[in-house]
Amino acid sequence: TDKTTSAKIEAHDLAARFYHHLLISTEQGKEAYEYIRQRGLDDDIISRFQIGFSPGQSDMLSSLLEKRGFDLGDMEEAGLIGRQESTWDVYDRFRNRVMFPIRDLRGYTVGFGGRVLGTGDPKYLNSPETSIFNKGEILYGMDIAKKSIRKQNTAVLFEGYMDVIAAYRAGVDNGVASLGTSLTKRQAQILRRNAERIIICFDGDNAGQESTEKSAEILEQEGLHVLIAMLPDNNDPDDYIRENGGERFRKEIIDTAVPIMSFKMQALKRNKNLQVEGEKLEYIEEVLKEITTLGRAVERDFYLRQLADEFSLSFEALKQEQYRLYKESR
Ligand code: ATP
Ligand code: MN
Ligand code: MN
Ligand code: MN
Repeated sequence: TDKTTSAKIEAHDLAARFYHHLLISTEQGKEAYEYIRQRGLDDDIISRFQIGFSPGQSDMLSSLLEKRGFDLGDMEEAGLIGRQESTWDVYDRFRNRVMFPIRDLRGYTVGFGGRVLGTGDPKYLNSPETSIFNKGEILYGMDIAKKSIRKQNTAVLFEGYMDVIAAYRAGVDNGVASLGTSLTKRQAQILRRNAERIIICFDGDNAGQESTEKSAEILEQEGLHVLIAMLPDNNDPDDYIRENGGERFRKEIIDTAVPIMSFKMQALKRNKNLQVEGEKLEYIEEVLKEITTLGRAVERDFYLRQLADEFSLSFEALKQEQYRLYKESR
């Protein structure tokens, strides 16, 4: 009902403020505070994103919620607490974690991501899917980034909470992240309502590269112009910014984002030794196949010409071969 919905939202707001307070002004939160500081976040950012800390003790939040008169059944449904099966004792879901409140478009906190301090498994524990937290409809950071996304007509899509936050600190304040799952059509629609262009900036590992292609497709289907910002191998945006600074991140990564086709060409190149004749021909064939999937003739021409120049081939021959592959694929 509406009443339990607003209780769940109120409880999340209380929890976010509670965790934030524990992080910034208590002895218990000190280790977590130092961990976050050492990861490059300052007090402004910590309060802007309302970062917090959930201590190891298992009844910190549950006893507060109980004291404030929240129904513990509702709180369990809201994903804030768990219950022991045999004794029905309640315990806090999040313990000993750095807490990232996840807000919906209206700015209400509806879930949390919790990171272990240092190493541990799972690295991130997120709120479960609940009646107020539909992961496929929420983008982390959207409430903060929305204004800038509209103004720039561009959003930057990251993988992780820390990437959004580090980028914000580096002056890229139009960043959002999907929540550990691959991007959904709903999330793409929300982005489309606020901007025409989107820059995908995922981690520079295999997983990141694979989800880049998937997400790009979903975003294009919603009519967004997609660009890809590429990171060096095994760097994520947060790592990159810490190692190279915000200015280089903006100028060398975000501002040099390329269309999907160039991204794919670079990916195909990475697995090949183009000095070897056979591999060179394979590469050309693979690029031609990709060109075949492009919807616009102008785009196809553009990349055919590029390929022709790069390998000193005739445009006509490439075009013929591309057409042959196109017919073959139908
Ligand atoms: P950090 O920099 O703190 O190590 P990260 O953001 O680089 O974290 P990744 O491993 O790249 O972490 O994961 C990206 C995102 O995927 C996370 O921010 C989180 O939203 C989600 N995620 C990662 N691990 C898990 C997990 N075990 N369960 C649920 N979500 C996860
Ligand atoms: Mn990753
Ligand atoms: Mn990462
Ligand atoms: Mn990271």
